[in-house]
Amino acid sequence: MGIESSCDETGVGIVRGTELLAHALSSSMEQHVRFGGIVPEVASRAHLEAMVPTLEQAYAESGVRVQDVDAIAVTSGPGLTGALLVGVAAAKALALAHDKPLYGVNHLAAHVAVDQLEHGRFDERAVALLVSGGHTEILLVDDIVTGITLLGQTIDDAAGEAFDKVARLLGLPYPGGPHIDRVARDGDASTIAFPRGLTGGRDLDKHRYDFSFSGLKSAVARHVQHEDRMGRTFAVADIAASFQDSVCDVLTKKAIDACLDHDVKTLIIGGGVAANGRLRQFAEERAAKAGIQIRVPRIGLCTDNGAMVAALGAEVVRRGLPPSSLNLPADSSMPVTDVVAA
Ligand code: ATP
Ligand code: MG
Ligand code: FE
Repeated sequence: MGIESSCDETGVGIVRGTELLAHALSSSMEQHVRFGGIVPEVASRAHLEAMVPTLEQAYAESGVRVQDVDAIAVTSGPGLTGALLVGVAAAKALALAHDKPLYGVNHLAAHVAVDQLEHGRFDERAVALLVSGGHTEILLVDDIVTGITLLGQTIDDAAGEAFDKVARLLGLPYPGGPHIDRVARDGDASTIAFPRGLTGGRDLDKHRYDFSFSGLKSAVARHVQHEDRMGRTFAVADIAASFQDSVCDVLTKKAIDACLDHDVKTLIIGGGVAANGRLRQFAEERAAKAGIQIRVPRIGLCTDNGAMVAALGAEVVRRGLPPSSLNLPADSSMPVTDVVAA
């Protein structure tokens, strides 16, 4: 069983190996929309209220109860400390009451591991492109539990953060990623040539697998301001499409480069931004050209959920690693290379 509470989603997943048995989810997003961002205290309180009903829902969906599970995994980081603590406390209580081993696992590695529920076990070395609200990283995955190497990451904003900030500039609601994805379908991506960060000259040499999206965000802001000053109504769909292409172009190009450089034949894409239609399209086209197989889970498993935590937990158990301590802390800045907490 896996429990997730790092941000606004309360999730409980139950798996048997790579088979998904329950995927119960509750979100407090509605309560954050009017603030234009997640309010940590509100999220923590919502987790408290949702935790028991979400557990019950997972039991009902799967016909499995906590007494029947082999182990309990919980996101111990990274994320909002107050939010993480609710999941960690719930997992500790269940582990103690039912005498089950407890594993504190990494949310980011879980975003990658979840694809196993969809497309079976990772059976060879892979590159993972992790694109979420708080992180944008390229990983070399020799083993999803014991062998993750960080190849590169964003030097400023995360990809999802860029989507959310640009959506705000365009007057679209929070969280902006899905809205940009939707409105961009009616836009022309060739309208505006937005910058592609860290893709040229010395930048590329020094930051081969790194990303930068803050310059892109500023370029969109400047474009919108300019249109305003000229008294024109700006073309939301065209700007959204041009911005989205810029992000997805760089993400997929660098991820494919990482595969080719490391002679890797599989690219896994995970995290909330992996739900993006244009990203999937770019990735499929470029991977096919390079002879690389891509693995992207269905949209409902890309954004935060408990199934991903259960999927990673199952791999930790399978490797026979020792359980985490019942004193397990919440670690808001847990690095992706620490997959299981001590
Ligand atoms: P992290 O996993 O880094 O801790 P998080 O859990 O907040 O951050 P996720 O839930 O993985 O992030 O992803 C949320 C992000 O994904 C948001 O920034 C959201 O805008 C973005 N997102 C969701 N759907 C789409 C989409 N279709 N296109 C682009 N971005 C999207
Ligand atoms: Mg969320
Ligand atoms: Fe996440």
